[in-house]
Amino acid sequence: MNTPGRLIVGHQTPERLRDAVDSLKRPDPSGPLAPVTVVGPSNYANLSLRHFFARTGFVNVRFMVFSRLAEFLGAPRMAREGRTPLTRVIESAAVRSVAANASGPLGDLSRHPSTLHSLKQSFRELRSIPPSSLDALARSSDLQSETVRLYRQFKRDTSRFYDDEDLASAAAESVDDQPASGFDDLGTIVFYAPRDITPGQLKLIEALSRRERCVVMLDQSGDPIADGYVYRLVNRLSSAPGTPQTDVTDPLPQGADRDRYSYFSPSPQPSPSGREGLLGLPAPVSADGEGADTHLVIAPDPNQEIRWVIRDVIRKARGSTPFSRMAVLYRKPDYGKIVAEEMELAGVPVAGPDQTTLAETAVGRTLIGLMELADGDFQRGLVTSLLTGCPVRSPDRSIRLNPSRWDRLSKEAGIVRGIGQWRDRLEKYAARQEESISDPTMTSEMSEGRLRGIRAQAESAQELLAFVDRLYDDLQPPAQDASWVDFSEWTRKLVDDYVSRGSGTPEPELNALEKVQDILSELTAASTVAPRPSFQTFREDLYEALQIPTGRLGEMGKGVFVASFRIAAAMRFDAVYLVGMIEGAAPPAARDDPLIPSPPVNAPEARQPDSRCSRTRGPKRDATTCPRSAALPTRPSQSHSSELKRMGDRDWLTLIPSAESGLLDGDATDAADVLEYDLRHLLRWRTMGQGVARHPFAAGAPLGRALQLGSARYSSNFTEWDGNASSIARESRYRNDTINRTHSPTRLERWAACPFSYFLGNVLRIGSIETPEDIYSISPLERGSLIHKILDAFMRSVAESGTMPKPYEPWSADHRSALFRVAHEHFARAESDGVTGRPVMWELERALILADLDIFLERDAALRARFGVTPSAFEVGFGLSGSPWQEAVWRLDSGEQVRFRGMIDRVDMSPDGSTALVIDYKTGSARPYNGLENDPTDRGRRLQLGVYALAAQGSLERAENVRSAYWFVTTRGTFALAPREPVDGSSAEVRSRLGEVVGRIVSGIRSGVFPANPGERNARFGFENCGFCDFDSLCPSRRDRIWERKRDHPALAGYRDLIEES
Ligand code: SF4
Repeated sequence: MNTPGRLIVGHQTPERLRDAVDSLKRPDPSGPLAPVTVVGPSNYANLSLRHFFARTGFVNVRFMVFSRLAEFLGAPRMAREGRTPLTRVIESAAVRSVAANASGPLGDLSRHPSTLHSLKQSFRELRSIPPSSLDALARSSDLQSETVRLYRQFKRDTSRFYDDEDLASAAAESVDDQPASGFDDLGTIVFYAPRDITPGQLKLIEALSRRERCVVMLDQSGDPIADGYVYRLVNRLSSAPGTPQTDVTDPLPQGADRDRYSYFSPSPQPSPSGREGLLGLPAPVSADGEGADTHLVIAPDPNQEIRWVIRDVIRKARGSTPFSRMAVLYRKPDYGKIVAEEMELAGVPVAGPDQTTLAETAVGRTLIGLMELADGDFQRGLVTSLLTGCPVRSPDRSIRLNPSRWDRLSKEAGIVRGIGQWRDRLEKYAARQEESISDPTMTSEMSEGRLRGIRAQAESAQELLAFVDRLYDDLQPPAQDASWVDFSEWTRKLVDDYVSRGSGTPEPELNALEKVQDILSELTAASTVAPRPSFQTFREDLYEALQIPTGRLGEMGKGVFVASFRIAAAMRFDAVYLVGMIEGAAPPAARDDPLIPSPPVNAPEARQPDSRCSRTRGPKRDATTCPRSAALPTRPSQSHSSELKRMGDRDWLTLIPSAESGLLDGDATDAADVLEYDLRHLLRWRTMGQGVARHPFAAGAPLGRALQLGSARYSSNFTEWDGNASSIARESRYRNDTINRTHSPTRLERWAACPFSYFLGNVLRIGSIETPEDIYSISPLERGSLIHKILDAFMRSVAESGTMPKPYEPWSADHRSALFRVAHEHFARAESDGVTGRPVMWELERALILADLDIFLERDAALRARFGVTPSAFEVGFGLSGSPWQEAVWRLDSGEQVRFRGMIDRVDMSPDGSTALVIDYKTGSARPYNGLENDPTDRGRRLQLGVYALAAQGSLERAENVRSAYWFVTTRGTFALAPREPVDGSSAEVRSRLGEVVGRIVSGIRSGVFPANPGERNARFGFENCGFCDFDSLCPSRRDRIWERKRDHPALAGYRDLIEES
């Protein structure tokens, strides 16, 4: 079937395509059986056209895209020349390789990702420029000269491969010389609504025209900017040899009410090219936005915008419009993901391209996670996020992965980074766990469950160590001079060994795995275009290759079509929603290529790139001129938004000022999903003056409970939501624990400071594990612990040597040397434990600690002289298993006993044993302890001194005079005693106060009183009690207001009396 070439210009529709196909078949002797091939702008458009043709029946019409036609006609020729396709992976590798040799203006930026991206784009543009124009371009500036030089190198390096342009040119040559077998089966080829025709494609159209086998249907929308490319193509195609006949059709749909299409002027207007109307067509004029079938929606954010769309889609689907006749179109891929997610939540079926990239799939994320680890120093966070967020398995399956336990365990082990730390700290951690259950005196008090738990922790640490060890070895990249093949094979093995898969793996993930394997195979071919890669080069090319979309969503013809504007070109729907129409983003501002001007100079044969504006508007118009209705949800600028609001109600405009107003709009059943359905009902209930709490939804959890929490928390009542556990106190375990268990004084102090903190930490046993991190300098906690250890070790060594000075003797020079020796030993240990921070800061800290130790000797002599005592015992345990002193017991007025245990830093005795001074070292500021001057318990927040004195009295039979005090042994704490006069444990007043306070605390706990008391607010440090509390992020930010409202509640009288009295 040979047909003279035809160029049909106008508004193209499937009906007109159908007419064109029929008119081609009619004169042919084979009639309806005559073959015709339709080349549509995309596979989706082809599918849509095929559905249209199917409705009226068709025979021997095939549909394909341009690249497929070029491949069919040109690939055999390329194969004869021994050339293979230039894949994205090889293209990227070749661009990176030539960029590495860049000089001049591109030299310093040659490895930057933006440079590589721009070079790739420029090389694609330069493909359409003839050599003579390239020379002219190279002479125009240093930058363009270098770009052209690199491009020519790129072409030489990739000469073994062919791209789409080569394929189209080869197809044209093949049509002219000797068409591929099967050419006749194609019949006449109809190019339907083509866009962006490249020089190679133009050659193919011309070659087909010469053989009288070609019809081109150019689509004119009527939008002056969108049609810019049509004017240019008409000029080029109508002058092409073999395209003798040009038909012009009306740009409006058949039977359209001309008055409703204000895009079209009733009389010819000057076109953008300066000519009057194109080929006699009326020239377009600008739109006024009053299209009768077009609706404009202004929404405050993308979610409201998309929800409005979903509601409208559901409304239309309830009518007579099937989902498959509707489309939601966007410009940015991110929007595509949001639309698809929201549609899925609403249960609306979708179809179209899936914007999820291979890098975002589980297999892609696992591969990227492995590469990041291979390139880094085994940071704890990276290892655990790989384990917790990706489907990872152990290579030999002998280890069962336990990501959440390993995460916690690695934090407890204090691992930050480096395989050395993983090995060393996990070994030590496991050893510590084993050791803690090896001592029968320690384990005798442990339950079976606790013992099992510790054993499991030790085993888990060993398993984690084995896994990390193997992973580290496997992640060592191939040696320096490794080839692309070596890197690909190494990566393939990592995927095989570590990416978990099985019978339950979802189909899309298995497809993604297959695609990753294909990419790794393609990367082996990069050796023909690029030298041996470094690990970074290989990794970057791999990452880029993973940026391809994974495939399709749903099934065409069954769901709402969700795609970008461009993909929807030439498709027809009954309703189209254009989302994300943000000012300045749709259409986007045109940006010049930074490396070559647009259009390239002296390049008459070059494809004239459409402006971005035209590229966006064209397909948008394609989609919106066909449907019966279209909606354009948008987010305009503030000023335009106010202007539109002033315009008031219009039937083509919907303003959604807020999420709430969006929910109130329309019928209650017009919900985007089930959650929104409930919300709509609740809002309507409330607007009718009803309280939400009385709605049937509020009868149960979670809404009912949440409402109770909200109102209870901000009321002046002390409720179950505020730590009032009195209703369950009688049967609770914590009630009896106060009597049955021994307590550390600090445990009860915690209740006195903030009962809610006690409830969470000691009743519910919730706690947080600190995330180890790189430290700048030693933490106050580690510093304090280090000083404690140094002083303890020093005192013990002096005691063992028998040289402890008498009460009125100063420390000797030998003692000073011994103290410094002990300090240096402990400094070395702290350094090896990795707690000392940056070397320069540690050096400073070390000097300060040594200076404090020097002062300590002097102040210690003064202290001993003041009280007539000398150090006698250190780290004295009481009430602990195997400790020398018995527990301290306090008898309550009720006759019940409260028992205490603890560890005293130091006990000094007078030579005759009648006086004892109990000392608890402190290394911070003494200011928070000022309350001890008035109250030996500081309102229950400092019980240690009283309890320590009690313990000493119980165990030191000869001591008649027992005192206790905190001693601040650093310059920061001014070497002060707190209180200045140590607490006299034998004083009736002190004992009475201690008894009273302990009684109140125990009574509060047993009654189930656990209010949250943040304490005073300090502008610099925040709430007094919350600074070191694990639950700071859990409590409401206005916790002080809540406490103020509740503090006068009668149930809190006991606690209030405790914290307010002095
Ligand atoms: S954060 Fe503050 S108010 Fe909350 S439990 Fe801790 S100390 Fe109490």
